[in-house]
Amino acid sequence: MTTIRLPTANPPGTVLGTAPGLTESADDYRATGGYDGLTAPDGLLAHLAASGLRGRGGAGFPAAVKLRSVRDRGGAPVVVANGEEGEPGSVKDRWLLRARPHLVLDGLARSAAVVGAVRGVVYLSDPVAAGSVRRALVEHPPPLPVEIVETRHTYVAGEETAAVRRIDGGPALPTAKPPRPFEQGVGGEPTLVSNVETLARIALTAARPDLRRSIALGTLVTLSGGQVASVLTEVPYGVPLRVLAAELGVPDATGALMGGLFGGLVGADALGLPLEPDALTAAGTALGCGAIRFLSPGECPVATAADAAAHLAAESARQCGVCVSGTRAVGDALRALAAGTAGRDTDDSLRRWSQGLPGRGACGLLDASAGIAGSLLRAFPRLVRSHLATPCPRCAAAPPDGRRLTATVPPAEADPDRPRAPLPSSGSALPSPVSPLSSPALPLPALKGTP
Ligand code: SF4
Repeated sequence: MTTIRLPTANPPGTVLGTAPGLTESADDYRATGGYDGLTAPDGLLAHLAASGLRGRGGAGFPAAVKLRSVRDRGGAPVVVANGEEGEPGSVKDRWLLRARPHLVLDGLARSAAVVGAVRGVVYLSDPVAAGSVRRALVEHPPPLPVEIVETRHTYVAGEETAAVRRIDGGPALPTAKPPRPFEQGVGGEPTLVSNVETLARIALTAARPDLRRSIALGTLVTLSGGQVASVLTEVPYGVPLRVLAAELGVPDATGALMGGLFGGLVGADALGLPLEPDALTAAGTALGCGAIRFLSPGECPVATAADAAAHLAAESARQCGVCVSGTRAVGDALRALAAGTAGRDTDDSLRRWSQGLPGRGACGLLDASAGIAGSLLRAFPRLVRSHLATPCPRCAAAPPDGRRLTATVPPAEADPDRPRAPLPSSGSALPSPVSPLSSPALPLPALKGTP
């Protein structure tokens, strides 16, 4: 079970809000200033540019640049709220759609106004989230037609070209780029495919432009690892990874699996790095979707790498021949390494694949697999060599098990004090475990140019 942890000081302008265990109604959302505030699209775009808000789907592209790119193409743009999170360790997007659908829909409508969109789509696979969004659309009809398009949950279904393909009636599989969706997307029109947390932060910026910098510098993270429950929380950029490990309950972490699977593995020396996209990229890893799995002392990084590589091999969409063979080779080699049966030149093979495979598939899955291999070799070179010489007792005690990588989505239930139309049958009735952070609120990094 993933628990939600509120920062001790939970100011306005946070995505978690004040009651993350409840599904927010339209009235409750309006009470926070939602569906109000800035209405001029150019004014909002200027605030987003000044805030430095970056996308929260994984690539971290500046939100204002992406909006402008779609707006400037002309045509009949489409806005897609992308809630399909494929990373097994991430839960933030599904929680957001379940608990705060109005915040996402508000961000969608405001983004549509900026780019001149005539159609909106909420794209997802989580049936509980779909029910929540469906009811929100009835409670507060948006100013443009918005439909829900559901897909099957896979690792690649949330990739932006896969989303476009699925919305157009095809399979949720990536296509070759260019064209990118901003050039030619849904129905051939310029399309903004935006992560739902990004849209939520756009809506928050419209409601509280005075808080634009802190809104842009806060981020949802899903933390997991050790023998403790996963945690969904919201932190400011800049907090050291080691602080997050301690908050999770793994203070003696020996490393981490970063960005879902996309950031690869880092060792203990990297835990002093700040949670900040550019700093992490400069260190050879990635924040990605904000999912971080900390490695406990009892967990062998080789077993974790084997888990990740096996997951990616199983999730290959099998469109690109090099992806099928490459992900399988990496997965087999890491499984053999964990089992103590790898050939003496396995590290050479892994190194070769880590350098030769990236960029050869139509999407980033093959890159992620290569990144797992390369990062293991970089962060834990002696450990890899020891696995070639003798079987590993930690791998033997806890052999690879892909289920360790999966975090469960925290439920959100309707507010019992505010009767509403019943959720579609897939709605969850489980109580939501919400607890305050055990330590004082994490300090915001120094802000430059805060209005
Ligand atoms: S790289 Fe792999 S997952 Fe991506 S499109 Fe090609 S076959 Fe599918």
